[in-house]
Amino acid sequence: MQRLLVASFVLLSLGLGADTQKMLEDISELTRLTEQYTNIAEIDDDVMKVLGKIDRAKFVPDFLEADAFRNQPLPIGHGQTISQPFIVALMTHLLDVQESDRVLEIGTGSGYQAAVLAELAKDVFTIEIVPELAKSAEKLLENLRYENIAVKVGDGWYGWPDAAPFDKIMVTAVAKEIPPKLVEQLNIEGLIVMPVGNPEGNQDLMLATKREDGTLNSQSVLPVQFVPLTGKGVLTIRSKDTKGDE
Ligand code: SAH
Repeated sequence: MQRLLVASFVLLSLGLGADTQKMLEDISELTRLTEQYTNIAEIDDDVMKVLGKIDRAKFVPDFLEADAFRNQPLPIGHGQTISQPFIVALMTHLLDVQESDRVLEIGTGSGYQAAVLAELAKDVFTIEIVPELAKSAEKLLENLRYENIAVKVGDGWYGWPDAAPFDKIMVTAVAKEIPPKLVEQLNIEGLIVMPVGNPEGNQDLMLATKREDGTLNSQSVLPVQFVPLTGKGVLTIRSKDTKGDE
């Protein structure tokens, strides 16, 4: 009880609203509950501070503002969702973002995850396949004065060759495999975090490191549920068995 009081006091003294404070507590609780899978007992302080600083309400549609800090994904239009705060926390923690990092994100969506990454990294490059979402995220991130985020409309399956290589890559939509172009665009010893599996079925959040020989050393972190990675690249692997590579 005493520890909880102290923690609440620290959060309040950081000027956090009650909603944000509750969101951080929910993230910590789910981190403990999933520790048996993830081996992570606590999310990095730096990540928690950033989550406490960014106003998630700005990234959800107006009619969902009251729900913005609940620990759940929310619809953002075009059949897409802003990820659950716990998942944002976990994926960001896993990427171990450093101040000098150049980070690629696939699936800009609302722009929330990009903002979280931009608070920790040097530069963030983010790709969104739905032009309307990319445009509104870009505008919002500009209004919030993020100068180290570049947003592009496109199929993230192919990455962003002109901006490569990257130290870290985060994919926020599920596919059956890690896109090979993303592996190519990752530095040796770089990290990639991405849900892998069946869009309608079992999915695992994967964390992978790129070895000297260019192959990946991957581990499964947690069963998850994400919206699918769409686009031409994904269709290419789905039809590979019958039509061969494009
Ligand atoms: N990171 C987002 C949540 C993303 S939901 C946030 O913080 O709000 C996944 C997003 O991936 C959706 O917006 C979807 O349109 C996008 N997406 C799906 N397939 C894609 C592809 N091939 N390339 C780029 N973006 C893609």
